[in-house]
Amino acid sequence: MDTAVSTADPRDITIIGGGPTGLFAAFYAGMRGMSARIVDSMPELGGQLAALYPEKYIYDVGGIPQILARDLAARCIEQGLQFGADVRLEEQIDELIREPDGSFTLTTNRGRYPTKAVIIAAGKGAFAPRVLECAGYERLLGRGVTHHVKDPAHYEGKRVLIVGGGDSAVDWALNLKDRTRRLILIHRREGFRAHAHSMRLVEEAVRAGQLELLTHREVREIHGEDRVTAVTIFDNRTDVDTHLEVDAVLALIGFKPDLGPISRWGLELERHAIRVDAHMQTSIPGVFAAGDVCTYDGKLELIATGFAEACIAVNYAVHYIDPKARVNPGHSTNLKVFKDREDEVVPVGD
Ligand code: NAP
Repeated sequence: MDTAVSTADPRDITIIGGGPTGLFAAFYAGMRGMSARIVDSMPELGGQLAALYPEKYIYDVGGIPQILARDLAARCIEQGLQFGADVRLEEQIDELIREPDGSFTLTTNRGRYPTKAVIIAAGKGAFAPRVLECAGYERLLGRGVTHHVKDPAHYEGKRVLIVGGGDSAVDWALNLKDRTRRLILIHRREGFRAHAHSMRLVEEAVRAGQLELLTHREVREIHGEDRVTAVTIFDNRTDVDTHLEVDAVLALIGFKPDLGPISRWGLELERHAIRVDAHMQTSIPGVFAAGDVCTYDGKLELIATGFAEACIAVNYAVHYIDPKARVNPGHSTNLKVFKDREDEVVPVGD
């Protein structure tokens, strides 16, 4: 038996995913007097807000006219953990076992988590990087080819090719431009997905001779025995090849949704999403879903709808756990849990 895998204390609600929806579910569970646990494969809470676009502004969260994604993540974390939710990060979920009494055990690579109900708020799932489908990619992955930059210092004085037209490719091009001996950014079309402001910085870097920018270019082959030594790119309008000697290829071409083991749990799925009813209940009683991971007629993938779906999921999870419990808790302004706290606050000036 793997001694690293231990059984944790049971919780009422286990939430898979620590993004804004999962964190709001943790808050709401606490507000309803439920104990909660969040399990996430990422090293930090915040989901896509923290991992994918921390520097982007968000304008469509109620009551907050404008906020940086990383600041919204911080607020969600503060709100979400106030009732003491247990947090397990960097754990890959595996099985969901339905126990005879209607409760569940969620297993991960590091633990077994008994729980009375489950809310899946896994966003787009684990982020599986898109891969370049060209000769040499698989063979040289980790030997000069990468889809994830860990340490920019690694590229000091090197000749580097970056592939992609999104914020990842452009941000890393801007980050590495002062370190590399030669830096080339290629993209398969004219238009870029990256921030307009970043593209202005790219233009400046090109003018300053720090970066070579080639559009309508794709990778045909990556060369090298033990490590990358060169790459053949082609112009997708003319099919003309160009040979470039490089030490590294950074394929920063985005991510694709991957539900991983969740897709094997027997839940009703629709494309890459989990089908839920109006109670956010999946096809397995006691298992709910909220946020980008779920779908229903009229679904919108927005943080605002994720918050609302988290409330619905928690309230019906509470009802699943205790059928006598009311679904609707009423308004937070009237709840005892907050009233007690207000009573503890010493008025200013006392
Ligand atoms: P992305 O926005 O999906 O961009 C991927 C890029 O790779 C696209 O330009 C795409 O081309 C290109 N591409 C995809 N498949 C390709 C292939 N097989 N061959 C060649 N090119 C290919 O991915 P990302 O840049 O990783 O960003 C992911 C998300 O995180 C985005 O929402 C992004 O805004 C966000 N993010 C934000 C920041 C920030 O705020 N600073 C930083 C990083 C990421 P097409 O354009 O032609 O499809």
